[in-house]
Amino acid sequence: MTEHNSTIRSVCVYCGSQPGRDPAFMEAGRQLGRSLAENNIRLIYGGGTKGIMGAVAAGVLSAGGQVTGIIPEFLVDMEATRHSLGQLSELIITQDMHERKHAMFERSDAFVTLPGGIGTLEEIVEIMTWGQLGRHAKPMVFANINDFWKPMLELIDHMSSAGFIHTAHRVRPLVIDQVEDIVPAIIDRWDMSANPEGEPAIISKL
Ligand code: AMP
Repeated sequence: MTEHNSTIRSVCVYCGSQPGRDPAFMEAGRQLGRSLAENNIRLIYGGGTKGIMGAVAAGVLSAGGQVTGIIPEFLVDMEATRHSLGQLSELIITQDMHERKHAMFERSDAFVTLPGGIGTLEEIVEIMTWGQLGRHAKPMVFANINDFWKPMLELIDHMSSAGFIHTAHRVRPLVIDQVEDIVPAIIDRWDMSANPEGEPAIISKL
């Protein structure tokens, strides 16, 4: 388990390297980026400057925030341009995907998944599996823009009701429809896990 800072300092965002067809997805990326910057939270992401990945980074930078891009050498010319990578506050070039994923995990206090494709899915599923195995208790969010993640959430429910999710209490991703609610929800979940007594205490007050 990693140390728990008193406040959230960094959030990892997983999302498509493509823009997707619904313009709401790019807008959600930009808006989430601005919201991170306004809350003094560093963006950790895959370094790509195209698609939704590019939109999140641009949102953070446009609001004066900090961005760490972590990209393997072989993807630099596919998912970014050398010029745009130069605009990031911090750039980490890794040897391979494994090193990239590990660096993203280590540096992040929480994980948000915007709409994306197979790469995005792989990244958030891995983080959920590490949570399930008790390797971390960092907040995880599905940004459910226009119900994008509905089929995935149905699949998780299906696996759960079929008896295959063995430590469900450790795999409790937040599902949030509105971008402006994401950062406040992460901060709440972080504060609760910093104080394990907090959750029952709050429930008893309801
Ligand atoms: P996609 O959702 O397919 O557009 O991919 C989004 C991001 O996930 C891109 O930065 C990809 O480089 C990254 N990605 C693709 N495959 C993997 C993988 N197996 N593990 C980690 N990241 C990946």
